[in-house]
Amino acid sequence: MSYNIAIDGPAGAGKSTIAKKIAKKKGMIYVDTGSMYRAMALYLIRRGIKPEEAEQIGEECEHADITIRHESGEQVVYLNGENVNPYLRTEEVGNMASRSSVNPKVRQKMVCIQKKLAATADVVMDGRDIGTCVLPDADVKIYLTASSTVRAKRRFEELTAKGETPDFDSIKADIIERDERDMKREISPLRQADDAVLVDTSELSIEEVVEKILEITEEKR
Ligand code: C5P
Repeated sequence: MSYNIAIDGPAGAGKSTIAKKIAKKKGMIYVDTGSMYRAMALYLIRRGIKPEEAEQIGEECEHADITIRHESGEQVVYLNGENVNPYLRTEEVGNMASRSSVNPKVRQKMVCIQKKLAATADVVMDGRDIGTCVLPDADVKIYLTASSTVRAKRRFEELTAKGETPDFDSIKADIIERDERDMKREISPLRQADDAVLVDTSELSIEEVVEKILEITEEKR
């Protein structure tokens, strides 16, 4: 039986940074499910499909073969055999991922791949529906959150560090809009699983959050 840790929460709560560190400390594999939805979004964008074209999204998603591999400790996402990691972190792809991930066929396909991955390896998997839908029997479930202002600030600083000149208010508005979409969608909306432990990262450093989660995993043993 594999040992699995599920980490869910809204965008900007620090899921990927934290999950990566936990995986490293515990010798587990980190699986970033958001990147898989992003790879699907990239495929749809390249096919010229618009976010509102629900029927086409349902049909076209069948032709996107998404797999992940771990190379030198990094997750690499392959879309129909191509390494698409360099194209996944743009606003356009993020926006399409947020919209296309409401599609039942897209979700079904991703959840199936994710369940298989977790069955064969010890994983720290992060996303929106991991504790509630993908891995309902995960050994440890964490719901990571932070205030929308703190999350917008983190995103603002990330973009500024990249040399961009972002607008704080529009970043915050975008974060709130994405939260709404994730929490209100019909299929597997973002919510804290009944048996998940809530960790608010607003006032904590990365190391403090990692420590806290490691303590929780020890308590669960
Ligand atoms: O986490 P990230 O921003 O990379 O995810 C991109 C989008 O994919 C999110 O806005 C969310 O709508 C969707 N997603 C999801 N379920 C997951 C992971 C991501 O619906 N397990």
